[in-house]
Amino acid sequence: MAITERLSEILNVLPEQTSLVAVSKFHSVSEIKEVYDAGQRLFGESRVQEFLAKYEKLPKDIVWHFIGHLQTNKVKNIVPYVDLIESVDSLRLLQEINFQGEKVNKKVNVLLQIHIAEEKTKYGFTFDECRQLLKSGSIQKMNNISIAGMMGMATFTDNHAQVRLEFSQLAEFFHEIKREFFKDSCTFKDLSMGMSDDYLIAIEQGSTMVRIGSMLFGERL
Ligand SMILES: *Cc1c(COP(=O)(O)O)cnc(C)c1O
Repeated sequence: MAITERLSEILNVLPEQTSLVAVSKFHSVSEIKEVYDAGQRLFGESRVQEFLAKYEKLPKDIVWHFIGHLQTNKVKNIVPYVDLIESVDSLRLLQEINFQGEKVNKKVNVLLQIHIAEEKTKYGFTFDECRQLLKSGSIQKMNNISIAGMMGMATFTDNHAQVRLEFSQLAEFFHEIKREFFKDSCTFKDLSMGMSDDYLIAIEQGSTMVRIGSMLFGERL
């Protein structure tokens, strides 16, 4: 099946409130262009150098999300070019994004990455760390940051019940935080969850953003 057919197959099952982030990491500029030509405008990359190289070569109406683990010393390189950083997992990173946003006079949209998987290797705040962070008021003081919601990754497992539980817990937590800290905000609205293997479950649990790579572009080499 061609990339464009896979794209429409995915788009056909997405509810109206859910957008597709086409995760293009490890895939070439020409493959991205193929998906772009089919109408897709939202793409996700997870490595800074790779993203910058592609950004240069591709049309400027692409909306880019940064979805990978981000080191503070690389924040300045991407801040001018990204629409959303989905993978914010520490206060230090938030402070640096705020600082770099200030320098280029940009309010940077971010998602707080929440650790929901069983694996220790996945990054993110625990529910409690996230509550504490918001209670402390330090984020609310950052004028060049806009918290647009949360991102999470489920455990890599065939156990659908476990994945469903992790996504439903994240969705519940998202609503708790929205109620408590972003009640009157229309910017805190996105719940990014779901990848190639689990996006159908994520949608069922209320995802507003699925990040799909291999199912769209094929396996990464
Ligand atoms: C690579 C990646 C994806 C996409 O994974 P697939 O299984 O290829 O769909 C989604 N989110 C993040 C954070 C990733 O790093």
